[in-house]
This record gives sequence, structure tokens and C-alpha cells, in this order.
Amino acid sequence: MADFKNGVSYYTKGHAVITVAFPESDVCCRWCPFCYEEKGLSRSRCRLTNDMIYAVEWTIGENCPIVFEMKEE
Ligand code: SF4
Repeated sequence: MADFKNGVSYYTKGHAVITVAFPESDVCCRWCPFCYEEKGLSRSRCRLTNDMIYAVEWTIGENCPIVFEMKEE
């Protein structure tokens, strides 16, 4: 295992593709498994962006990384 005594000269980056399912067209953070309520505080936060989410019932975070596929009706 490397010990990086001389520092890190580069990082190997990875990306993940995930699928999050929202019921019908109710797209808001409360259904997302990455949304959690901060213990002892009455506010929620996104595990992926670390943003505070102010209205989990109505919105998604402004930096939400999910790309939505819209179902045509
Ligand atoms: S911002 Fe996006 S990824 Fe984060 S909790 Fe909300 S829906 Fe999930």
C-alpha cells in the first residue's frame, strides 16, 4: 500500500450511475434514499451534494445530480 510521503501527484476518479425511483410525477427529495433528516435538527440534507433541503415535500436540491427522464403522457 502506498504511503504518499511525497504527496499525491494525481487522483484516479470514478463515477457512479444510480437509479432513483419517484412515485409517478411526485419528484421531490422526500422519496429519495439520499435525503436524510439531520439528527436533532428539523432540517434535511442531501447525502450526495451535502446541500440543505428546505422543503423535502415540494422540491429537490438546487444541485441535485439526478438526470430525470420524463414520461410522456
Ligand atoms: S437533491 Fe437529488 S439526490 Fe439529493 S436528496 Fe434530493 S433528490 Fe436526492
